[in-house]
Amino acid sequence: MTRMLRLSGLEPLNIGVDALFVNVGERTNVTGSRAFARLILAGDYNAALDVARQQVQSGAQIIDINMDEAMLDSKAAMVKFLNLIASEPDISRVPVMIDSSKWEVIEAGLKCVQGRAVVNSISMKEGEDAFRHHAKLVKRYGAAVIVMAFDEKGQADTLQRKQDICKRSYDILVNEVGFPPQDIIFDPNIFAIATGIDEHNNYAVDFIDATRWIKQNLPHASISGGVSNVSFSFRGNDPVREAIHTVFLYHAIKAGLTMGIVNAGQLGVYDEIPPELKERVEDVVLNRRPDATERLVQFAQTVKGSAKTQIEDLAWREGTVQARLTHALVRGITTYVVEDTEEARQLFDKPIQVIEGPLMDGMNVVGDLFGAGKMFLPQVVKSARVMKQAVAHLIPYIEEEKKKSGDVKAKGKIVMATAKGDVHDIGKNIVGVVLQCNNYEVVDLGVMVPCDKILRTAREVKADIIGVSGLITPSLEEMTHVAKEMQREGFTIPLLIGGATTSRTHTAVKIAPHYNGPVIWVPDASRSVPVCSSLLSDDQRNGYLAGIKQDYEKVRAQHAGKKGPAMISLAASRANAQKLDWKKYKPTKPKFLGLGIFENYPLELLVPHIDWTPFFQTWDLAGKYPAILNDEIVGAAARNVFEDAQSMLERLVAEKWLVARAVIGLVPANSVDDDVEIYADDTRKKVVGKFHFMRQQAQKPADRSNYCLADTIAPKDSGVKDYFGCFAVTAGIGIDAIVADFEKKHDDYNAIMVKALADRLAEAFAEHLHLRVRKEFWGYAKDEKLSNDELIAEKYRGIRPAPGYPACPDHTEKGLLFELLNAEKNAGMSLTESYAMLPTAAVSGFYFAHPDAQYFAVGKIEQDQVQDYAIRKGWDKATAEKWLAPLLG
Ligand code: SAH
Repeated sequence: MTRMLRLSGLEPLNIGVDALFVNVGERTNVTGSRAFARLILAGDYNAALDVARQQVQSGAQIIDINMDEAMLDSKAAMVKFLNLIASEPDISRVPVMIDSSKWEVIEAGLKCVQGRAVVNSISMKEGEDAFRHHAKLVKRYGAAVIVMAFDEKGQADTLQRKQDICKRSYDILVNEVGFPPQDIIFDPNIFAIATGIDEHNNYAVDFIDATRWIKQNLPHASISGGVSNVSFSFRGNDPVREAIHTVFLYHAIKAGLTMGIVNAGQLGVYDEIPPELKERVEDVVLNRRPDATERLVQFAQTVKGSAKTQIEDLAWREGTVQARLTHALVRGITTYVVEDTEEARQLFDKPIQVIEGPLMDGMNVVGDLFGAGKMFLPQVVKSARVMKQAVAHLIPYIEEEKKKSGDVKAKGKIVMATAKGDVHDIGKNIVGVVLQCNNYEVVDLGVMVPCDKILRTAREVKADIIGVSGLITPSLEEMTHVAKEMQREGFTIPLLIGGATTSRTHTAVKIAPHYNGPVIWVPDASRSVPVCSSLLSDDQRNGYLAGIKQDYEKVRAQHAGKKGPAMISLAASRANAQKLDWKKYKPTKPKFLGLGIFENYPLELLVPHIDWTPFFQTWDLAGKYPAILNDEIVGAAARNVFEDAQSMLERLVAEKWLVARAVIGLVPANSVDDDVEIYADDTRKKVVGKFHFMRQQAQKPADRSNYCLADTIAPKDSGVKDYFGCFAVTAGIGIDAIVADFEKKHDDYNAIMVKALADRLAEAFAEHLHLRVRKEFWGYAKDEKLSNDELIAEKYRGIRPAPGYPACPDHTEKGLLFELLNAEKNAGMSLTESYAMLPTAAVSGFYFAHPDAQYFAVGKIEQDQVQDYAIRKGWDKATAEKWLAPLLG
């Protein structure tokens, strides 16, 4: 049996031996937060709930709730607050820590809390009998428990007393009460250090040592502590307090600290504490020298009240110009880059030497940190911004010098483009920036670039490598075309393939065989540098290519040998369609039939619907929001890029950088086999268009159907009047000028940021409008009441499949969709030849209202369906093959 501390709110929180540090939110505590105390005393429970919500949003995985205030009926307040959060799913999804020094308050809390809570705390301060009694009750209520290192004599201060009391408590709990050891969490007391009293100097060390000892000697128990105490003597000096917490946690977590009560929004990153501050804080926390407190107090004066960045400034502005440039590059600070670059220029004979020397040295540090996984994409892009601004300053001087000096020798030249018909370029732009950072020259041809232009440019600039990127499935065909053309024109340089729909298998099976030169799939930006450097290094190239060749051959062999699922005929799969009972189902008639047009939709209404998780994926940061903000590895990078996103978003909304537009259509519809007919009005006499859907053809187990979206619309011959919806939304109108402006300022970071935010807003708009459709415009779910998390998880009735996605993989269906909606006129949206949408920040699709409508993947289809579909679409064989290629074996 694996013993694991298992807690839950609405969602489980399992804390196993290898779990990461767990943040317990401390702000919902009247003894620790005066602001919270004021709200509770004033009876403003709504605002108090906001405090709890904000804690969860900023990453608290448990919330500590404490109502121990003399002026308050603590028991009543605890019960009231717990009952209130129970109906707030965005708060109560995390477990609660019921915190009180009064047993009756704890017990009142235990009676009404939902999920599996933690009691904070019980101890032997009133003797063993009371301790046993409380422990039995906690066990009966099914909660976990924090045991404070406290006995009849008082709180344990030294290591020895901490060990003794914890051991004695543990033995009573496990051997006498039968308390599961994994449900015991020790709090060996965090006390204030640097108080000026010598006895206090070792408190942090004692806590850390006690943590290590408990971990080793009291099996399965966890350790917790109230972190803010440790820095109590620096009240009023937040930068120093934050540094103390960060250093303390760094060491305590290493020793085995499981969880801590902290202000999750206010923790720093150990590696980012300015060195001088860090050294002095560490002296105090680890009690490394007798005058540590004095030295920190002294230093704290200089830090007092100053913002974090200012502390850093003090230290790094003193260094040599090289050190300053490196620092600015690594940290992405543009503030002084022009003046530092100018200073460096005056030190060298030629301006070019500033690039070759200090700037490249700095970028090499960035490259190394990135390669070693110590720096992440958003930071690298910020570094690139510093580099570009420095280079921009030098360019005029270099131009002057040109006759005398040669060009900077780049490591290689790469021509990059987004495939013809495709418009998505965030990923490609990030790759470009990362390569430039590593001293490759990048010629970026932009989006929708025809093959001949790519190849012509590659020849003109004598490119060493070509890179083609794409997001939508038709781009896969276009990439194959590029490979064929390179072969035909006698190219030999490598072709790199990247972008969301590409894959190693597709590259190996569908693209590489058409070109004798190297074709290499690059999964993400961080891989681009090692791939290019292997390709362009004389020593590594052959070995690297031999490896790729072998690898792709294996992939091809596997693919060839792979037997897909058994397939059935189209007729058989239609016979096994999803069968809904149309006699029982009464479709809701939409409140209006026809188009609904939304001009200039208020952006502030969209912000709350943003799903942030994909935003981090854009920046190659893996993890789910909000947990990612406290991730051990990428947490710091995620917090930084998120903060930047928030401040840009605020301006973007306030200053109306972008215009959001949308059009929806709610129409009478019935299905005819796998098609959905749209009627001019509810008399259903005139067909104004027909959407074509595809059907799964894999052999299904006896109880599963062969799905097709059309099955969830009432068939024409059922006589049931059914309805259907279409939508097209964008939040990207006006973005080009904004992006161009940032690019002009050599600010790729913000250029990429604004695109990423526009994409988020477009998705949020789709979510928001879908909500309004369900509740107002169509009105089939008037009483729906879901939290934002539930909306993001799409827990509502009905779906909004998007053409090009697995349930309706044919992108060309967007043609009729846009026509019926007149999306060009009504929403300023258009389609490229590959049916990519412009502006890029856009979503379009269908609304299906039936409760049994669901997402699925059509998967591979057989020739009989290809022919049937082609007839329905009026396609010839070649056209069918072109658009359906991704669905064929
Ligand atoms: N909250 C996400 C939403 C996008 S992904 C974001 O902000 O990025 C979910 C959407 O993708 C769905 O609403 C639907 O439009 C589409 N989708 C997902 N799976 C699909 C499938 N199998 N077939 C068709 N569309 C699908």
